[in-house]
Amino acid sequence: MFNVGEIEVLRIEESLGPGFQPNVLLPDWNAKDVEPHMPWLAPTYYDPAQDKLISSIHSWVLRTRHHTILIDTCVGNHKERPGQPRFHMLNRPYMENFAKAGLKVEDIDYVLCTHMHVDHVGWNTRLENGRWVPTFPNAKYVFSKADRDYFDPARGAGGKVEAHARVFNDSVLPILEAKQEMVVDGAHRLGDDISITPAPGHSPGHVLITVQSKGTEALFTGDIMHHPMQIYCTQWSSAFCSDPEQARGTRRKMLEHAAGAGSLVYPQHFAGPHVCRVGERGGAFTFLAGRR
Ligand SMILES: [Zn+2]
Repeated sequence: MFNVGEIEVLRIEESLGPGFQPNVLLPDWNAKDVEPHMPWLAPTYYDPAQDKLISSIHSWVLRTRHHTILIDTCVGNHKERPGQPRFHMLNRPYMENFAKAGLKVEDIDYVLCTHMHVDHVGWNTRLENGRWVPTFPNAKYVFSKADRDYFDPARGAGGKVEAHARVFNDSVLPILEAKQEMVVDGAHRLGDDISITPAPGHSPGHVLITVQSKGTEALFTGDIMHHPMQIYCTQWSSAFCSDPEQARGTRRKMLEHAAGAGSLVYPQHFAGPHVCRVGERGGAFTFLAGRR
């Protein structure tokens, strides 16, 4: 159980364990920078035996006074992802974990997707009689216009890549066809306490979700960073960033804000305790795991 002021925050896990080899995700990962951090990295955030990053794939759920909001929807089950063995035809107990958290699919008022990558939109839909249908029947699904345009095979360059088109077609298009989408262009507020702002770089329309309640601020940072080492090496963009240079700027700006404001940071892929704060010492940032 996590919380932000009066807002309850739940974490719904799809998977947690060894994921990519470091250089596959973070091409700039190198022994010299990593070595001094090894005492805290292994085994929680890095598995030296397998040379793999430990990665979580999870959703966050916010329960405000008015709404129940799901942030990012992982990879999903039964989705064909050829060439991506970590994501192909999964059968994980995500919906069981969702139910264990005391939630029903009808409870979700909004689904917020920080961006339209394979591991962030999967449970937008589920398979029913051979068709992909919205998993959350009462939800408005909030997408940024920039990502919708980029990843739509009929509109943008991202959608021309077969793997992205596949994700769009089975996890976004059924939402558009059901008219459950809410497409936002630029900054947007959701109720009194939640704001959605552009944070491009990892994808053209990646957004940052900021939650404020009773003097506490939390940043739901999507994939602005994937691994705690990026707090120390802010220049390390992932291999999957559409614009690595822009991603660097976005990450730096978010970290400066988080350190200055003392914000809680809730990324989508950090291993336990999954949440952190950011310290700053002489222009360099430090990773403060947990809520302290
Ligand atoms: Zn991701």
